[in-house]
Amino acid sequence: MSILIKNVVLNNKKQDIFIEGNKIENIGRLNFKAEEKIDGKGKAVLPGFVNCHTHSAMSLLKGYADDFPLKKWLTEKIWLLEKNISKDDVYLGTKLACLEMIKTGTTCFNDMYWHAGGAIEAVKEMKIRAVIGLIMADFSQAGSEENVKISYKKFKDRLPENISLAIAPHAIYTVSKENLIWAKNFANENNLLLHIHLSETVDEVKNCIAQHKMTPVEYL
Ligand SMILES: [Zn+2]
Repeated sequence: MSILIKNVVLNNKKQDIFIEGNKIENIGRLNFKAEEKIDGKGKAVLPGFVNCHTHSAMSLLKGYADDFPLKKWLTEKIWLLEKNISKDDVYLGTKLACLEMIKTGTTCFNDMYWHAGGAIEAVKEMKIRAVIGLIMADFSQAGSEENVKISYKKFKDRLPENISLAIAPHAIYTVSKENLIWAKNFANENNLLLHIHLSETVDEVKNCIAQHKMTPVEYL
């Protein structure tokens, strides 16, 4: 598949861009034949955006109790609802999120959610790049270290080039110190990113200082 984008602004200059397959082959004033021609007039070309923190399947829950403060929203609404979320829901929600990302210029995202297998299937089909976080949370068997180990083994050798894995302990207030240390070591041993919520609310900071005499960042 070849694409020619005509008259698009790049570094303050009008240029044409020729794409063959998944590579930019040429940039300049070009008169190439292409299977698809896009008029770039009035538009600028930029590198793809990277979204460093998503729960992409939650696109299905958009607007749900979104006027609640974080703790109330999690404990009274979201965590209850998430008990009934299936792998299929995650597959569909992640696909929807990918579609929205592709439409708005995001080409890579760093995700943290349940049922990683559903998210992986969605990203395989949608073909954008993603880091899929295997979530850890002490309140759920699904978020235990055994489960993360099982998931990691299951997925690690079956991923296409555009997908990699991360370890995703939910937060310092939902994952014990022992499990955070385990996550750190597991990530180091397997060369994985570590993805965590940190210092999100005034409450988290206050509670951490009361419990550990340190801010969340110092505690980590
Ligand atoms: Zn989050």
